Amino acid sequence: MRSLSTKLTLAFLLVGLTGAVLVAVIIRQQTRNAFDRFILNREQQALAASLIRYYQTNGNWDGMGEILGSLQETQDGNGPEPRRDWMRFVLVGSDQRVVFSPLAEQVGERMSNRELSRGVALQVDGETAGWILPPRVPRQWIPNSPEELFLQNINRATLVSALVATLLALTLGGFLAFTMTRSLRELTEATVEIARGKLGLQVKVRSKDELGELATSFNKMSLDLEQATRARRQMTADIAHDLRSPLSVISGYAEALSDGKLPGTPEVYNILHQETRQLSRLVEDLRLLSLADAGELQLILQPCDPQALLERVAARHAVAAQQHSVALRVEAGQELPVVNLDSERMAQVLDNLVLNAFRYTPPGGEIVLSARAFDQGVEIHVRDNGSGIPADELPHIFDRFYRGDKARQQNGESGLGLAIAKSIVEAHGGTIRVESEFGQGSVFIIALKSG
Ligand code: ADP
Repeated sequence: MRSLSTKLTLAFLLVGLTGAVLVAVIIRQQTRNAFDRFILNREQQALAASLIRYYQTNGNWDGMGEILGSLQETQDGNGPEPRRDWMRFVLVGSDQRVVFSPLAEQVGERMSNRELSRGVALQVDGETAGWILPPRVPRQWIPNSPEELFLQNINRATLVSALVATLLALTLGGFLAFTMTRSLRELTEATVEIARGKLGLQVKVRSKDELGELATSFNKMSLDLEQATRARRQMTADIAHDLRSPLSVISGYAEALSDGKLPGTPEVYNILHQETRQLSRLVEDLRLLSLADAGELQLILQPCDPQALLERVAARHAVAAQQHSVALRVEAGQELPVVNLDSERMAQVLDNLVLNAFRYTPPGGEIVLSARAFDQGVEIHVRDNGSGIPADELPHIFDRFYRGDKARQQNGESGLGLAIAKSIVEAHGGTIRVESEFGQGSVFIIALKSG
């Protein structure tokens, strides 16, 4: 298969060649016609001058037909004189009848005014003595005559120009094809490298045209692919790690129990129960995330009053708030539009946010749930005045398995809570974001469209 570059070069060559041949043919024809007209004009003027002189001397055209006829005969042959072409003209007398014509049968024929208008009137003493009409038969150029040689020179020059133009088209076409396909070649090579596993590979963006756009998109795709692969590997490692801890506890206890080294006390069974619960919670979280990724998270959407939802969530956590010595309250809001949502799933999101707020808010702190209307819907705020989040952690807290400052970590954190919250909110067509100042507290904002 020929390369794209060869095909482009051939295309340029073909276009160049067609153009050059066309121009050469047109120039050749035009020059020939213009030159023919020029010579004809000169001959017509010379003949007219001689004829007028003849008429002035004789007062009529008698004998002129024979003179022109005999001239035609001598010059048609192989005489020493190069043949002039004026014998091809038609001489018409003042009575509009043909006096002389290269076609003998035309002599005596009467010419119409329209035909005469194509010719030159012969004026003698202010009167029209006759007309000469341009020949009807095409000119035969005499070989080796200066005119023929001139035309041959023009033809040769045109041919050389056409050849040079074709060569130029070939050179320029080759160069253009090479530069145009360079980006494509680089992209092809990079694609092969990526397929071999060299993710993140970048190509040079050489232009701002469609190829440049393709290279930019390719670079972005390559980086995204690298990040996604890294995230997937990291996630697999995180999952393995998070499954291993409870599993090793369970298997350790189970072994000790079966060996009879550990008595089956309620505390032991409680620990086993806790660990299995943690395992199933993790598995359930992962299932929910993969459903959301596949766009298969089933939502039971129903019109819901956001204020009532907040009251319900706050009521669920009232006892925990007391235990944490944290004030949990719902701020009375204005009139809010009804929002279509899956209240169970949204309550799960708010539970996550409130549980996080408990974790990072010291006793004596405050957690406030509030909602307010905005032009497209409702914003739900979960605000705490706890530890806040360092600025460098903010971009990552919604990532899967991301846990903030390890020193602040507590038991039971999977690092999936906010990732799940984000998936559920986005499945509702909403957004979730955080505003936080380290040491001052955080506010999580869920924006949901109404209607
Ligand atoms: P985790 O299971 O670790 O809570 P999340 O996804 O719920 O996982 O949260 C990710 C990280 O975000 C937490 O480890 C913590 O560092 C930070 N974070 C979340 N909520 C708050 C909050 N209210 N105040 C301070 N930091 C928070």
